[in-house]
Amino acid sequence: MIGVIGAGTMGNGIAQVAAEAGYQVILIDIDKKYVQVGLDAIKKNLHSKVTKGKMEEAQEILSRIHGMHDLSKFDVFIEAIIEKMELEMEIYKRFDSICKESTVLASNTSVLSISEIAGSTNRSDKVLGMHFFNSVLVMELVEIIKGSHTSEESIQLNSNLVDRLGKKSIFVNEAPLFVVNRILASMLNEAIFLRYEGTASAEEIDQAMMLGANHPIGPLALADLIGLGTLLYVIETLFSETADSKYRPCPLLKKLVRAGHLGKKSGIGFYSYPYFRD
Ligand code: NAD
Repeated sequence: MIGVIGAGTMGNGIAQVAAEAGYQVILIDIDKKYVQVGLDAIKKNLHSKVTKGKMEEAQEILSRIHGMHDLSKFDVFIEAIIEKMELEMEIYKRFDSICKESTVLASNTSVLSISEIAGSTNRSDKVLGMHFFNSVLVMELVEIIKGSHTSEESIQLNSNLVDRLGKKSIFVNEAPLFVVNRILASMLNEAIFLRYEGTASAEEIDQAMMLGANHPIGPLALADLIGLGTLLYVIETLFSETADSKYRPCPLLKKLVRAGHLGKKSGIGFYSYPYFRD
């Protein structure tokens, strides 16, 4: 039985993928109403199965996902709550005392230290990162993050789980932003510097990477899609964790965020999105 803590964007995706792989899943949030929001999102995602005449399959998947339950029964625990160290510490302390001794506690955090989270438990050998990507239903990769005390056995157990979920894992020693986001954040920041320095227009920078490096989307369009506020937070985390000037966020990114130009969700970023304005 898999316990998924946090029924938001990532949590409900993880719960669905696990239920589709045949696991019984308990979905937990601070309030029942958020669990319901997560379940509704899963129902919506399963709708395509229903329209393809796979109603029974969709119902079976849904029947494997439950709300609040006996928390001591988890074999696997995957946490996907908001990124706040104090909250995470509280959650891990609580579940450390509730879960079976053998249960590995996995965090989907993108930026927090696994070793620090593990410090709030008495099982730091069984705490690791299990970093899924958005959208969980589509993205194949899961980064498995090894904290200072994570055991090889725990890594292997979770790697087997990733296989059973139909995804691919890579092993990463704890480091700021792990692998994918470290490369991605640096690349997007560099593209923004090129725009800031007036080297090329936004369209030309994007075309360059799509036609010259075969990327499916240009870096500035991708920055708008991720959200410029989120991107700035991620780059600032990388900069403060490493104290390395090569990661300093581009002043243009800061300026856009301060002006409320957050990308697609605010209707304006490097491009204009009149239909997405709030
Ligand atoms: P979200 O805001 O969509 O969902 C977070 C959920 O956690 C909410 O439903 C909230 O009610 C719940 N929650 C908050 N405090 C809680 C608590 N104490 N106990 C139980 N539930 C609680 O966030 P998200 O986008 O799903 O992100 C979750 C985690 O996944 C974060 O660590 C984030 O960095 C990471 N992540 C996000 C993405 C992404 O693109 N969204 C990608 C990879 C990793």
